[in-house]
Amino acid sequence: HAQGVFQRLGLSPDPTSSETPGVYHGSWGGRGALVDSINPANGELLARVRQASAEDTEDTLVAAREAYKQWRTVPAPRRGLVLQDIGRALEEKRDDLGAVVSLEMGKIKSEGRGEVQEIIDIVGYAVGLSRSIGGSVFPSERPNHFITEVANPLGVVGVISAFNFPTAVYGWNLSLSLVNGNATIWKPAPTTSLCAIATTKIIASVLESHKLPGALSALVCGGGEVGQALVDDKRVDLLSFTGSEARGKIVGQQVQARFGKSLLELGGNNAAIVLPDANMALALPSIAFAALGTAGQRCTTTRRLFLHSSIADSFLASLVAAYKSTASRIGDPLAEGTLIGPVHAQDGVNRYLAAIEQIKKDGGEILVGGKRAEVDAALSKGNWVEPTIVKVANGGRGFKMMQEETFAPILYVSTFETLEEAIELNNGVAQGLSSALFTQDLSNALKWIGPEGSDTGIVNVNGSTSGAEIGAPFGGNKSTGWGRESGGDAWKQYARWASCTLNWSNEVALAQGVNFSV
Ligand code: NAD
Repeated sequence: HAQGVFQRLGLSPDPTSSETPGVYHGSWGGRGALVDSINPANGELLARVRQASAEDTEDTLVAAREAYKQWRTVPAPRRGLVLQDIGRALEEKRDDLGAVVSLEMGKIKSEGRGEVQEIIDIVGYAVGLSRSIGGSVFPSERPNHFITEVANPLGVVGVISAFNFPTAVYGWNLSLSLVNGNATIWKPAPTTSLCAIATTKIIASVLESHKLPGALSALVCGGGEVGQALVDDKRVDLLSFTGSEARGKIVGQQVQARFGKSLLELGGNNAAIVLPDANMALALPSIAFAALGTAGQRCTTTRRLFLHSSIADSFLASLVAAYKSTASRIGDPLAEGTLIGPVHAQDGVNRYLAAIEQIKKDGGEILVGGKRAEVDAALSKGNWVEPTIVKVANGGRGFKMMQEETFAPILYVSTFETLEEAIELNNGVAQGLSSALFTQDLSNALKWIGPEGSDTGIVNVNGSTSGAEIGAPFGGNKSTGWGRESGGDAWKQYARWASCTLNWSNEVALAQGVNFSV
């Protein structure tokens, strides 16, 4: 199966037999270290990827700036036509690229495919923008003056992405970058290089067919040192970083130190709240998806659950039963019926096991899970853990592990008495990405989304913390980094804005009535 997928994506049918170039800026290459791409479900080698050397990154920066100079003169509606072709090419390869996401990242088939669909959706959004991007016209206080905002291309956008969305996050950034007339350089997570290479091949084929420079969508595979080179380089006008809070905090300061622009999409520690008036038949599967989906490795994963004390026991019993029923559906991400794939890396398993130890020490009560998962012998070399529910007393106040994002399927559950208390608990962590309230009462819902409500960047009512659509801005507040990507006005960050005043009279007129005759 994998061989056919690789071949159709223009990769060698057996990428393990030869090295796969991990650098693209119009042509493919790479002079850095060879890094293995491993299937997290069974530990098998998928490819050996040649990463970028310092010289490769330099060549890519030069090529991207040249590409930008050409692309910035192309009218936006014509950029939209190129994007339209990128969307079509991705649609043709959706299932194959989705399968590579499953093979290399470990997410289940429909989620791998869904990731590619997300790029297709945002490409469509950018095609629409290509006929509408622009600024406002403002009234001038001076006669015969005209004031408008102009959105010019910004330059080169650097995109550093995390392993858990190995293609979609790039799709969000690339679409908005391209439609604004920029070139983009992508530095994916080193463990998901193959996803990045396969995605770039599809985009490159369209750029090349339009006789456009491939460096408009350039790729430098590599680890921290390759990312650092983009962070530190003034030729990267906007640095879009998706990853951990710890790394993002440093990256944000380093980009600021050179007066660059950054866009930070960092960790989440998302809560769901269930009120007694909730539709429980809706709340249960919504929370199960958000807590279990992608084996707890989404930035929007539900990690904290607050249940009203009057329904807590019955809801928790149903949730534990739902978790137990998924035990038989942990396995090969590409097999039909699988709901939970592996944790992406051995590191993730170690962090999960360390968290479980700490939870036990701190007095958390493990209701289900808490150890490595049993799987078929064929998958024994994969990274398997049991999805876990931990009951915590007193709303989790003072329970340190609940303040942190452990990037694994661990759900903390506690109780509350009033909506005000639940909101205080929801807001009582450093992160501010996503949240969800389950209620049938309009005043509860409006309080939740209002000034005294949830402080996260994504706020849901009767829906999962995970699974946002592309139309709205995506991002979080507080230590999640305040970044916004994807829909809404996020595109505005990829432009160089100018407020332009045009005097079409023959008079000098100064604002605020200032008189300065010479
Ligand atoms: P990570 O911080 O370890 O790595 C992220 C990226 O940073 C990788 O590409 C990595 O190679 C790169 N990097 C490492 N050192 C660097 C350096 N010195 N300079 C520049 N780049 C460097 O994160 P991860 O483990 O890959 O991803 C998981 C994290 O990402 C979680 O915290 C998750 O919540 C977060 N995430 C957030 C969002 C969001 O939209 N808010 C989306 C997806 C993932």
